[in-house]
Amino acid sequence: MKGAAVLPWLEPYWRRLQAYAGFERVPQALLIAGIAGVGKMQLARLFAQRLLCRRPGDLACGECVSCQLFAAQTHPDFLVVEPAEPGKPITVDAIRGLIASLSLKPQYSGYRVVILAPAHQMNSSAANSLLKTLEEPDEHTVMLLLTETPAALPATILSRCQRMEIAVPDRALSIRWLAEQGLGEQAEVLLALAQGAPLRAVALAQEGVIERREEFFLAWRDVARRIQEPVLVAEKWAKYSCEALTDWMSSWVIDLIRLRALPNCGPLNNPDLRESLQATARQLELKNLFRFLDLLNATKRRLLGQVNRQLALEELLIHWSSAANFQGSTGKPKYHE
Ligand SMILES: [Zn+2]
Repeated sequence: MKGAAVLPWLEPYWRRLQAYAGFERVPQALLIAGIAGVGKMQLARLFAQRLLCRRPGDLACGECVSCQLFAAQTHPDFLVVEPAEPGKPITVDAIRGLIASLSLKPQYSGYRVVILAPAHQMNSSAANSLLKTLEEPDEHTVMLLLTETPAALPATILSRCQRMEIAVPDRALSIRWLAEQGLGEQAEVLLALAQGAPLRAVALAQEGVIERREEFFLAWRDVARRIQEPVLVAEKWAKYSCEALTDWMSSWVIDLIRLRALPNCGPLNNPDLRESLQATARQLELKNLFRFLDLLNATKRRLLGQVNRQLALEELLIHWSSAANFQGSTGKPKYHE
């Protein structure tokens, strides 16, 4: 567990945490906020290990009994509360379990650290239950709440937490770091897809997302050109995460709108697709692009509920095919010829 260094863009935050620990002024509840893939969990885990370590320096020593237990994920004074499945809420039972564990004395003298993530996924009874713990803190317990959307947490919880907001890292720093991870060539595109979050960019690269996204983009473009049939494309797409697809479509439409308004406009969401987007933008009307973007946003909201994904995508692509209304198109789809 030695080697777990602080990610370069997290260093300023680490120095603040270090100071808390060094002066024994560790907040009993700290909310760490920042977009997905910016390194909240890494930072929280490093801090937890540092607090539990018997011989801490700048970082945890990596060698003491406490560090060994931490590395083996069996430290009795380190607790992680997460949803049972990703995307599901953190339930009141999970918080009750936590409260029961906290009612026992720490196993080792020193801190007890809880990471609760994603904090905004607590349902309201879970949040109410946690609030009681936050109101009567135990001096040895440190709660680290991680979230992408602090605004989604009850004000009562927020008011009990100190806050640390992790900003999107400097672009040049992220690109340099991604190059060090062997992702130099794709760094710019990955970072744009990850909204600037470097760890998210790495995850996207591992998922082969650039290649897949390009494939989807070409199909989407061909639906507009009426070379591919919306229904068949929707059928293929329905097998894939709708969230990624609709996010990609948004980023393409937004780029098209910008290129339509200003053909040589500044950085795009999809820098690698610029030429193809430019050619497509020339063929489209601005008002139709805005109309499609509205429909896309409405569909995104619907997809959060119980809908048939394939039908929703079908409807979207049929609209895209007609809304695109390519100049020079006879109105008759090529796939019908
Ligand atoms: Zn140690």
